[in-house]
Amino acid sequence: MRILVTGGAGFIGSHLIDRLMKQGHEVLCLDNFYTGHKRNLLEWLDHPYFELIRHDITEPIRLEVDQIYHLACPASPVHYQYNPVKTIKTNVTGTLNMLGLAKRVKARFLLASTSEVYGDPSVHPQPEDYRGNVNCIGIRSCYDEGKRVAETLAFDYYRQNHVDIRVARIFNTYGPRMLENDGRVVSNFIVQALRGIPLTVYGDGSQTRSFCYVSDLVEGLMRLMNGEYIGPINIGNPGEYTILELAKTIQEMVNPETELVFKPLPQDDPKQRQPDITRAKTWLGWEPTIPLKEGLKWTIEDFQARMEGQNLNL
Ligand code: NAD
Ligand code: UDP
Repeated sequence: MRILVTGGAGFIGSHLIDRLMKQGHEVLCLDNFYTGHKRNLLEWLDHPYFELIRHDITEPIRLEVDQIYHLACPASPVHYQYNPVKTIKTNVTGTLNMLGLAKRVKARFLLASTSEVYGDPSVHPQPEDYRGNVNCIGIRSCYDEGKRVAETLAFDYYRQNHVDIRVARIFNTYGPRMLENDGRVVSNFIVQALRGIPLTVYGDGSQTRSFCYVSDLVEGLMRLMNGEYIGPINIGNPGEYTILELAKTIQEMVNPETELVFKPLPQDDPKQRQPDITRAKTWLGWEPTIPLKEGLKWTIEDFQARMEGQNLNL
């Protein structure tokens, strides 16, 4: 098949492309390199079945493809809050453009949505029919509300134009190739521990998250794309940890000498998050397989190798 991956030079997109290329598909990657990098795709740059196109999805584009994995959008609060208006444009105009493309060429379209559509949830764990508790004027809204509109667009194109959609709600994902300056909790703690500087726990660290290793996540996305269930469907690891527990685990694994420092909790930071994955188990026969400590070990090794390569003061 000819498969388009938007945001394919980013963290999740590049792992997805690895899998698609290994299956023998022809893959087109669209990326504006805001948070993505060519180095994530080095293995494929000269491959005859791979094409990398520098393109901003807020502009229309004409391509012929069979499937579209729509991942383009910065995912870390630091990056999506840097230019919030652009984040909204990417989620709204960008998703509109990609749905228009899917409609024109009759391609199946998978939206990478997010657990952020549940906001600061008052139902725990979160099932897909929970409608969320989202602030529409806060600093996270450009992303949370942007993704909610992206989901609305997908379902309206499905109802109105019969576009063959799939909607995945992705929960916190981690693994090799996360950016060092990403600002997300796993990358921050690992980089800090490797540098021997204090791990920055926001608030008292009692807020919870559930962390899914990237290979498990990619498997879930591919099963959703190639199955019959349109979603929305939670894809995440139900193993729930407080941020303090995560800090202590990484501290122990990397450098028990490093300290923890407590910093103010950012505005609208969700207090708890855990996916209910009953639908994913039922419809996709999917559940995560990689335990946190194992995934962290591979992620730490990747950061260590990259930091040594870049000679960052370890
Ligand atoms: P990432 O920032 O590593 O990747 C996003 C990619 O999109 C980057 O390569 C970036 O350059 C590209 N991009 C951004 N705006 C673009 C634009 N206007 N035009 C073209 N390309 C653009 O993030 P990620 O962690 O790989 O996330 C991928 C997708 O998964 C995102 O849609 C994100 O919202 C979703 N998601 C991720 C997580 C997570 O924990 N990583 C959780 C929930 C949802
Ligand atoms: N966090 C933290 N220290 C950091 C970065 C993040 O304590 O250096 C906290 C953050 O406040 C949140 C959790 O870790 O409660 C997850 O943050 P992340 O940005 O990774 O993802 P999100 O909040 O979008 O789930």
